[in-house]
Amino acid sequence: MEQDPQEVTCGGLKTASARPVYELLPGHPVALGGSRGITVTRTLPNRVRRMVGAWCFIDHFGPQDVTGNIGMRLPPHPHTELQTVTWLVSGEIRHLDSIGSDQVIRPGQLNLMTAGRGIAHAEVGTGDAPTVHGVQLWVALPGTDRHVQPQFSHHDDLPVFRDGGATVTVLMGELAGAESAARCYTPLVGAEAALEANARVRLPLRPDFEYALLTLTGKVDVDGTGLEPGPLLYLGSGRSEVTLEADAPGRVLLLGGEPFEERIVMWWNFVARDHDEIVAAREEWTTGSRFGTVAAFGGAKLPAPPMPTTRLTPRGRHR
Ligand code: MN
Repeated sequence: MEQDPQEVTCGGLKTASARPVYELLPGHPVALGGSRGITVTRTLPNRVRRMVGAWCFIDHFGPQDVTGNIGMRLPPHPHTELQTVTWLVSGEIRHLDSIGSDQVIRPGQLNLMTAGRGIAHAEVGTGDAPTVHGVQLWVALPGTDRHVQPQFSHHDDLPVFRDGGATVTVLMGELAGAESAARCYTPLVGAEAALEANARVRLPLRPDFEYALLTLTGKVDVDGTGLEPGPLLYLGSGRSEVTLEADAPGRVLLLGGEPFEERIVMWWNFVARDHDEIVAAREEWTTGSRFGTVAAFGGAKLPAPPMPTTRLTPRGRHR
C-alpha cells in the first residue's frame, strides 16, 4: 500500500548471522492506504537486515482507537510469490480476495494467504470493535513454489501450550512439539507468547534457524534484557533456547526459520526474482490481466505507484 516504495533485494546466506547476537533493529513508520488507512511500524525489511528465515516483511499496527469508524480500509491490491500472515491482539479485520474468500479474523486466529503466481485482496475493519492491534507479516516463497496456485486459509484451532506462566500459540511451523496446520514452504516458525505477570518461560530453539522477537504489548525481558513494542530484536543462529520473562503481562512474537538462500526483490506488494518480473507484475495489475478482481469489496482497486525511472540495482547493504 505504500505510495513511494523502494526496491529491496533480500536474502542470501550472507544476510544471516551464523552465531547468537542481540541486534536491535529500529522500526520506521509507514502510512498505508491513503487518508483512510493506518500507520504501521515496519521492522522488516530493515536498513541492515532484510529477512529472518523466509520472513521478509513485518508491519505492526495499533493499538488504534477505531470507535465510530471502520478503522482499516485497504482497497484491493495484488501480491505475488509470498504468503501474508495476519495475527491480531485486538479488533476484527475482514479479508476479501480474488479467489472468493470472505473471512473475518479475530484475536487468536490466523489468516494465511498464499499469493503464489498472483492474487488480489482487500482488508477492511468490521466496525464492530473499539480498537485494532496486530501484525501483518510476509513469508517469501522459495523458487520451487513461487508460482503455486493462490490459496487462502483461516485457522481458529492453532496449537496452544502453557508453560511457566506463558500461553504460547504456534501460528506457523513447530515449537516445543506443538505444530501448526498452516502450510509452510520453507522450514520456519512463528509463535506468540502471552506472558502473565511474573512469568518465566524457556522456549526451545533450533541452532540451524535464525530468530527474531517483536514485543506486541507490555515489556518482555529476553535473556534478561527488556524489549518493548517498537524495534525488532534479531537473535541470529546457533541458539538452543531463549528465556522470556515479564514483571507485568506482555505479549511477544517469535519469528524464525532456516536462512533463506535465494535472493528476491521486493517492490510495493510484489516479491519477484528480478526487476523485469516486478515491471511485468505491475503492468498486469494495471491492465487487470493477471490478478482477478475482489468483487465483494465494492470500490476501486489501489493503483500501483510508478516504477522508478531508472533500473534499480541491488543496494548491497549486506553485513
Ligand atoms: Mn496485502
